[in-house]
Amino acid sequence: MKCQQCEKPATFHITELTGPQPQELHLCESCAKTYLLQNEGGPPAVAPTLANVLAKQLKLGQAAEELANRMIGIFTRDASGRRPVYGERVKFQEDPHWRDLILFHEYFHAETGEGLGASHQTGWTGLVATLIDEWRR
Ligand SMILES: [Zn+2]
Repeated sequence: MKCQQCEKPATFHITELTGPQPQELHLCESCAKTYLLQNEGGPPAVAPTLANVLAKQLKLGQAAEELANRMIGIFTRDASGRRPVYGERVKFQEDPHWRDLILFHEYFHAETGEGLGASHQTGWTGLVATLIDEWRR
């Protein structure tokens, strides 16, 4: 697919949801940057937020690192020595017999990172071990 503005290949596919009908745009990187910068100063709506996100788009490796760091950060101790995964559970935060035993919960609180649901998942949550292996060696 070619860019709607020039003849280069379209690598950005943007769906604008600000009007009555969704509007699809297929742009090359250069035209997408121009488009996004033009729309950054518009009225507050969904589009400027999307434009900001896309304009500050991370390179794939940076995005992977950011996601890995956020996932790993759920399980590692913060500056105060607390692991977000254990929330307010004193036994797991402070007891020397329990505090280094990491549980892999079913899902996590979106704001705090506290582990919720089943606590002995070996499914997707356990994949953080792979992230630690890849990003912390
Ligand atoms: Zn273009």
